[in-house]
Amino acid sequence: MASDNPYASKLTNPDTDIELIGRDQFEDGLSTRFAAKTVEETVQELDTNETKGLCNQNDIVYRRSIHGVNELEGEEEESLFIKFVSTFYGDPMIMLLIGSAGVSFYMGNLDDAISITAAVLIVVTVGFVQEYRSEKSLEALNKLVPEQAHLTRNGTTETVMAMTLVPGDLVRFQVGDRIPADIRLTESVHLTIDESNLTGETKPVSKSLDVVSKPMPSIGERSNIAFMGTLVRDGHGAGIVIATGHKTALGSVFSMLSSIEKPKTPLQNAMGKLGQQLSFFSFAVIGVIGLIGVIEGRSWLDMFQISVCLAVAAIPEGLPIIVAVTLALGVLRMAKQRAIVKKLPSVETLGSVNVICSDKTGTLTQNHMTVSKAWTVDMKTSHLAVDGNKHLPDNVDKDVKYMLESGNLCNNARFSVEKEKFLGNPTDIAIIESLSSFGMDDLRNTRVRTNELPFNSNRKYMAICSHFGDKSKSETFAKGAVEKIVAMSKMYYTKTGEIKPINDEISKLIFKMADDLASDGLRVLAFARNSKSFDTEPSDLVFCGLMGMNDPPRPQVSKSIASLLRGGVHVIMITGDSEVTALNVARKIGMPLTDPERSVLTGEKIDAMSEEALSEAIQYVSVFARTTPEHKVAIVRALQLRGDIVAMTGDGVNDAPALKLADIGIAMGKNGTDVAKEAADMVLTDDDFSTILHAIREGKGIFNNIQNFLTFQLSTSVAALSLIAVSTLFNLPNPLNAMQILWINILMDGPPAQSLGVEPVDQEVMNKPPRSRSERILTVAVLKRVLTAAFFIIIGTMYVYVREMKDSVTRRDTTMTFTCFVLFDMFNALACRSYSKSVFQLGLKNTMFNYAVGGSLLGQLCAIYVPFFQSIFQTEALAASDLLYLVAITSSVWIVDEVRKYLRRKNASYTYGYSTAV
Ligand code: ATP
Repeated sequence: MASDNPYASKLTNPDTDIELIGRDQFEDGLSTRFAAKTVEETVQELDTNETKGLCNQNDIVYRRSIHGVNELEGEEEESLFIKFVSTFYGDPMIMLLIGSAGVSFYMGNLDDAISITAAVLIVVTVGFVQEYRSEKSLEALNKLVPEQAHLTRNGTTETVMAMTLVPGDLVRFQVGDRIPADIRLTESVHLTIDESNLTGETKPVSKSLDVVSKPMPSIGERSNIAFMGTLVRDGHGAGIVIATGHKTALGSVFSMLSSIEKPKTPLQNAMGKLGQQLSFFSFAVIGVIGLIGVIEGRSWLDMFQISVCLAVAAIPEGLPIIVAVTLALGVLRMAKQRAIVKKLPSVETLGSVNVICSDKTGTLTQNHMTVSKAWTVDMKTSHLAVDGNKHLPDNVDKDVKYMLESGNLCNNARFSVEKEKFLGNPTDIAIIESLSSFGMDDLRNTRVRTNELPFNSNRKYMAICSHFGDKSKSETFAKGAVEKIVAMSKMYYTKTGEIKPINDEISKLIFKMADDLASDGLRVLAFARNSKSFDTEPSDLVFCGLMGMNDPPRPQVSKSIASLLRGGVHVIMITGDSEVTALNVARKIGMPLTDPERSVLTGEKIDAMSEEALSEAIQYVSVFARTTPEHKVAIVRALQLRGDIVAMTGDGVNDAPALKLADIGIAMGKNGTDVAKEAADMVLTDDDFSTILHAIREGKGIFNNIQNFLTFQLSTSVAALSLIAVSTLFNLPNPLNAMQILWINILMDGPPAQSLGVEPVDQEVMNKPPRSRSERILTVAVLKRVLTAAFFIIIGTMYVYVREMKDSVTRRDTTMTFTCFVLFDMFNALACRSYSKSVFQLGLKNTMFNYAVGGSLLGQLCAIYVPFFQSIFQTEALAASDLLYLVAITSSVWIVDEVRKYLRRKNASYTYGYSTAV
């Protein structure tokens, strides 16, 4: 088989390239080699077809078996065992504990040595499992936005996963797409590609089909090659895959890129810092406790063990990990709700967003357009209803027919046999679909296109030249925004097909009728044509008419806007459509337009304003109309100047700068370009505005959850530390032994704390105003709660301890104290599930919490009743009445918190969350 496929043998036998440029550059060598070949030579060498692509399924499978999957996997992972072992020597506390076990062994305290070793194993395992889980969830995040490619095989084009490509495949790409492999171009229409991630050159380069004759061209000079990972900035093209995966130019630098460490989020950093400060503080306290203990004449080994265990328990070393897991799990939950957060820090920012700037088309509306009305100059002030009406071709006036032909020929929507519908730009699709209302066929196959000015949001029109076979008889067809097309037209068509000049009166009529269509909320397009070709821009066009397209609002949008407004978020609509269209859509979806004078600004007006003036005016604006993507940058700047935290949506290539500049850049997953997705912090897989609301709600919820488990961890930590400190100060024997302290540590850093991070988000969180960015996570309210809970735990546990202890400390005494502390902790966890809601309101919705607390209680029962654990924890069985007595005492921490919550709810000025609760 291999001999049947000359290409496969050439690629697997790199000798030719090695001789020329050395092994290091072999991958690069492929694009150098193919850059020097013509399209025909490339097609022949790769044994493919320039228009149909690869046709033989067996051949495709064979090529994949030779060249592998088209992806760049990360480096080889360390084995789990090595990772586990490295957790031991990575943590000085654990090393100290192992040291203390060694000393115990040396001194003949075999029991202690075994107990401590067992505890160390458990502590390390819990930490390791958590860290591993956090890593896995983070890895899962990277796979949420799959790379796609428009692949032509056997003459049919489909959108597929980029990883399925093999050398010889024919792929198409257009403005905004990411190039899925290294490709020798076979078609290039105004194709400009941003290769900055390979070359560092920020200016996009123009691509052509010409052979590169220079002997060793640099990447930038290989102008007929499109490189994997680069982004199409303008135009469109097609080409043949010459290299995939690690054999691409990007593949050769990938290992360098993948070794760059992922930055931590500000919250993780803050938690790390908090952890350090707490460690410092705990060390000081533990040092003093140890010293006092030794001065009091206690065994130094006992004191050493207690101190080290206390250090392990009191220092919330699990804090940054729990934060990371909580963020990552939150992000995965958001992904289920169709919002993919690409960067973890964005989750934190989401809760602070106080302005959302949203595109109209496709985000607020359904992006399913239908031509509902048409107009030509001879119709004077009436329209032609299109949608749902059938017009017989013979009865269609010439001006209408010319308009439809323009719309048909100047159109890039493609029919997909597979999906049985047109794919492409929704405006283009609407025009093509309207042809059937007039009994007209798609004429594009009958003509040859010779030039094209593609549509983009800056140009706001599209124009093409085409002919029937005789290039000298090329004609121009154009469609676009009314003012653009009218500016290029001097004449218009009458209904009989006559050409007449556009005078002032006609020009006014055109704009009046365009406004008329727009006042129904319709998108308005003008059409024109002439019988000559153009080079750079068309001119002297003959105006044909207007079409009004309906694009209904998305069903949930009005509700979502209302909810955001209630929560103090300013919602702004940004559109390339006209002011009148935009205003009417805004009205339909319930945007506040109290003062129409100040609520709307056009792109033109933005251009005439200074940044400060825009910043001043913007607080009243709800709609920006006739904007270009550049205006979005000005809008974000103006809002940020006011101190706003801005979320901005975008889909096009030129939206990238605004998406990057915004605090949260949001790209559309379905209709957005790869460029926009690349620049964004979040991708909406359903393109729906309402999804932003879910994401903000999740973002706010996650922050509250983090504060909740912080409260839990800190109160446990403070209580444990204070308990030992107090008893040492009063010269009492230690109420908890080393093993018991370690068990408490597992509860504090382990599953119960973690489960608080996944508490379902309270819907009421949206009524709370956006969180200020400078707001600290450890607010006064959090601290108050920590100290109150710790106070109850210390007093309760000390009471039980002192009451139990008569003359000397027995096993029963420590068992009671130990169980008392653990039960306190469990009730405290229950209280910490929410800052403001009663457990009875929350119910049993958090299954992870139920399991975590259930498991911990079971563990505690084992520690008391199972003989093996009794010997480890130095406990003894308690009577049922003892347990009841302890439950009565320890529930106080939860009951007091319930009372606080109740009083809070009764308070008329009820607010949600911590920040307002100081
Ligand atoms: P939104 O912000 O609401 O998503 P937009 O900014 O993407 O809209 P554009 O797509 O830039 O708006 O459209 C601006 C104007 O360009 C439209 O009002 C229409 O007149 C014209 N237009 C839109 N799509 C096309 C197209 N495919 N071909 C030609 N002209 C178009």
